[in-house]
Amino acid sequence: MSLDDLTQIDSTRIFVNGAWVRPSGGGTIPVTDPSDGLVIGQIGRGTPADVDAAVAAARDARDGEWGRMTATARGRILMRMSALVLSRAEDLAMIETRDVGKPLNQSRVDSTALARYLEFYAGAADKLHGTTIPYQDGFTVYTLREPHGVCGIIIPWNYPMQILGRAVGAALAAGNTVVLKPAEDASLSALVFADLAAQAGLPAGVLNVVTGLGADVGAALAGHPGIHHLSFTGSVATGTRIQEAAARNVVPVTLELGGKSPHLVFDDADLEAALPVLVATCLQNAGQTCSAASRVLVQRGVYDEVRRRMAGIYQGLVAGPAVASHDLGPVVSARQRQLVQDFIDLGKRELTLAAEGRIHPEVASGGHFVRPTLFAEVPPDHSLAQQEIFGPVQVLIPFEDEAHALALANGTDFGLVAGIWTRDGARQLRLARKLECGQVFINNYGAGGGVELPFGGVGRSGHGREKGFEALNGFTRIKTVTVHHG
Ligand code: NAD
Repeated sequence: MSLDDLTQIDSTRIFVNGAWVRPSGGGTIPVTDPSDGLVIGQIGRGTPADVDAAVAAARDARDGEWGRMTATARGRILMRMSALVLSRAEDLAMIETRDVGKPLNQSRVDSTALARYLEFYAGAADKLHGTTIPYQDGFTVYTLREPHGVCGIIIPWNYPMQILGRAVGAALAAGNTVVLKPAEDASLSALVFADLAAQAGLPAGVLNVVTGLGADVGAALAGHPGIHHLSFTGSVATGTRIQEAAARNVVPVTLELGGKSPHLVFDDADLEAALPVLVATCLQNAGQTCSAASRVLVQRGVYDEVRRRMAGIYQGLVAGPAVASHDLGPVVSARQRQLVQDFIDLGKRELTLAAEGRIHPEVASGGHFVRPTLFAEVPPDHSLAQQEIFGPVQVLIPFEDEAHALALANGTDFGLVAGIWTRDGARQLRLARKLECGQVFINNYGAGGGVELPFGGVGRSGHGREKGFEALNGFTRIKTVTVHHG
């Protein structure tokens, strides 16, 4: 099926005030398939003027029907959006696989997760409320939980549907209106989503989607004086710029940035359960996952066994065309491939190579494939143990005892997720408290999963929480009302 048949929209248009319009500059950006590097379509190249129009539409929509609608009615629209997404889940999965090179089985998880986020936030919409607060005699004090107004939402290319679902779902449930800027490498699913939202009855202007480059559309949105809140998921470098731009208008910001998340594997760990998870949680989406468990810290007593068995898994891995759902697909772009390959080449010069996977012999020469690579005995201060690689590269680092493991785990600038593998219950509880990160998994790891579970980082991994009910707090603000009745 052609891409146009799959999307059922004209992807060179942007979605502003309920209408599909051409970007004001008339430009387009090519869409390439990472599995073969071929151009498969075009998206519109939005401009700052388009952002102005989208923000104006979102402000009008906030003051219109949407602003007067009950929370229950908002929830019902979100529920219809969820059902429509589910009815197109297979198309959306194929679109994402062609657009970002994600194996089809993983894209299917993303499209159904998008529906699930909408379902969760649909149900949550009318369960958001303020509180009453005991105060002085003669007073009644209560709080109102109100939407911010217009939310700017800027998302990356690695999990477009999941990140869109959690941010847009929560923002709309809380009563905000949205200007969404998807990544230029992965905008198609967001455009199809806008179409489905309109079909579900979302009023014009409540959701606007402006595609284009980060430097044009993203920067214009982040620095726009007409927005009331900004939610950004992406790299630390861009997140820092975004926060600076928003600060000029004193706009609150939620940042979900990168990570260098560790697994802590103790001598008493159930290796049978742990081993497949250790590998899968780094290599999912070809390692392009903010919560990728890219550092495996292993206690000395089981280090050799873990290394040997992980090496065995790596040797059996195959990277191949995304639609065929091999262990890994390509990475998203030639630029990303080069970034990852540079890390691997550096590692091969300076570190101990433990094992490599293979690239399928029949991949197209233009595909952006990288061999999954495992390094052993990696010094904790080496750049491969400190920097986010965002590719299928994992490092093994030995440790002696719990204190050593904790120091290593907390020894990067990031703090997104950590996994603990031990049968010792007291150690589980101690470490869960002391690990400096936003989410801890004990004897499991599934950072993307669970739409109900709050997610976010500390340090360079960002601030604020997405997902779950907690996200609704971030997409609302509290007003305190003090009544004197004598
Ligand atoms: P990126 O920061 O380059 O781009 C993210 C988005 O920001 C894109 O839509 C892009 O167009 C836009 N953008 C780029 N420059 C901009 C600017 N100057 N002003 C405003 N917007 C701009 O990130 P990426 O390469 O697309 O994504 C990979 C990064 O995102 C990784 O570092 C990863 O860890 C992080 N990430 C984090 C999470 C999380 O939840 N913590 C999730 C996914 C990705």
